[in-house]
Amino acid sequence: MTNMITLRVDPKYTMDLNRGYSLILKDAIQNKELLESEGELIRLVDQHNRYIGTGYYGHQNKGIGWILTTKEHELIDQAFFTKKVKVALSHREDFYQNSQTTAFRVFNGEGDGIGGLAIDYFDGYYMVSWYSEGIYSFKEYIYKALNELVEYKAIYEKKRFDTKGQYIDQDDFVMGTEGDFPIIVKENGMNFAVDLNDGAMTGIFLDQRDVRRAIRDHYAKDMNMLNTFSYTGAFSVAAALGGATKTTSVDLAKRSLAKTIEQFSVNGIDYEAQDIKVMDVFHYFKYAEKHDLKFDLVVLDPPSFARTKKATFSTAKDYPKLLADTIAITEKNGVIVASTNNASFGMKKFKTFIDKAFKETKTKYKIIDQYGLPKDFRANRDFPEFNYLKVVFIKKLS
Ligand code: SAH
Repeated sequence: MTNMITLRVDPKYTMDLNRGYSLILKDAIQNKELLESEGELIRLVDQHNRYIGTGYYGHQNKGIGWILTTKEHELIDQAFFTKKVKVALSHREDFYQNSQTTAFRVFNGEGDGIGGLAIDYFDGYYMVSWYSEGIYSFKEYIYKALNELVEYKAIYEKKRFDTKGQYIDQDDFVMGTEGDFPIIVKENGMNFAVDLNDGAMTGIFLDQRDVRRAIRDHYAKDMNMLNTFSYTGAFSVAAALGGATKTTSVDLAKRSLAKTIEQFSVNGIDYEAQDIKVMDVFHYFKYAEKHDLKFDLVVLDPPSFARTKKATFSTAKDYPKLLADTIAITEKNGVIVASTNNASFGMKKFKTFIDKAFKETKTKYKIIDQYGLPKDFRANRDFPEFNYLKVVFIKKLS
């Protein structure tokens, strides 16, 4: 470990790093000019030259890398990566045993000890997502670890970095026997069609698994359900399977129509008996009010940021307004499922948005259920930015 670059941490940031915060923020480093190429190993020290941790250089949002170990003499070699993957696999043993759920996360970035890397499992196929050029430079270690530790049909990879941290479009097949997509995976007995070689995302957000189950098992029966920002309609599928009288899915993206029809179809649901609208949610609210449409169950799952031709939306700023619009078209005693994956605030703050919306609309409410990340999305619970998912079930009382 002689050619490692030593970086000095600004004293404001040492405490968090010593408490287990593993993201190396751009602003935390005082001598960044020493960095040369992504993937190089770095040694972090404090003002007094005391060792903090060893990590790698890789640009990812506001970070320039991740700490991999806080043991000064631990080598970052094949054995290191193999061990991390092995431990991660051992934490998912229950999932591998469960025939009713065949899609789950095997490796969750920093929560499993390697920031910038995610591995998802889809019925024998593995999808490896790389979030920086830096972590991608270690790919041979990870693929070797997978070859040694798991049996697979094929491995696909998503390079989720270019200059803007976006997905790089390519053929994502890495090795094995290519899949015949879409394949049908199971989640608590529900079916989802997924294609691992079609863009950055499969369209099924595995972190919402517990929420989909709750909707199906406890909240959908005999309800008229509205699913906003519905994308592939996964929440609508859960509601329909749970006995909803009808579902309405609203998403702006044209691709959502075909994808939603597909997900209903692979579950034996007649999609013609459901409503699927390709339109702006904010227009839909106006349309619903004008036609006096009301719903018993409404799912709100907006992206953290969105830009349409006319407006920009940011959850941190606009959630109360979004909720107020939703409250107006929710039946008394109806349930609103308010979800956000915005990592910039925690559950406490999210609940203040909820409170604000209900106060401003002079409506009484009760929080009846709440969810965070499921078990396979291991995360450092001390820092809300890694524990980003917040889902609150709210009953509208008046
Ligand atoms: N709820 C979905 C995931 C939503 S992803 C699920 O659980 O599967 C966010 C979606 O919001 C995207 O499909 C995007 O097309 C849609 N979207 C963004 N802005 C929108 C708007 N103003 N109106 C309707 N849909 C919008």
